[in-house]
Amino acid sequence: MKTQKGLMEQPCSECGGTLEKTYISREFEREGIKVRLSGIKAWVCKGCAEIYFQPGGADKVVKAANCLFELALAEEQHKGTLTAQV
Ligand SMILES: [Zn+2]
Repeated sequence: MKTQKGLMEQPCSECGGTLEKTYISREFEREGIKVRLSGIKAWVCKGCAEIYFQPGGADKVVKAANCLFELALAEEQHKGTLTAQV
């Protein structure tokens, strides 16, 4: 995962492939609790599938995941997966 400025105009720094704007989902697991975030805006390389977030985007994803973990713990939803649409 990498964060770059002006990545829309740049090819993939790993393989030179074209970056495609898309929405991805990510799953996180902590202490047996799973949370899933979907609808995260990102750029994915068509060549090697490297994922690029907007500047600061990766931090926001981590923060959102942490919020879901807090919610899961507060509600004692220790089973199953908590899902959020971004
Ligand atoms: Zn690539």
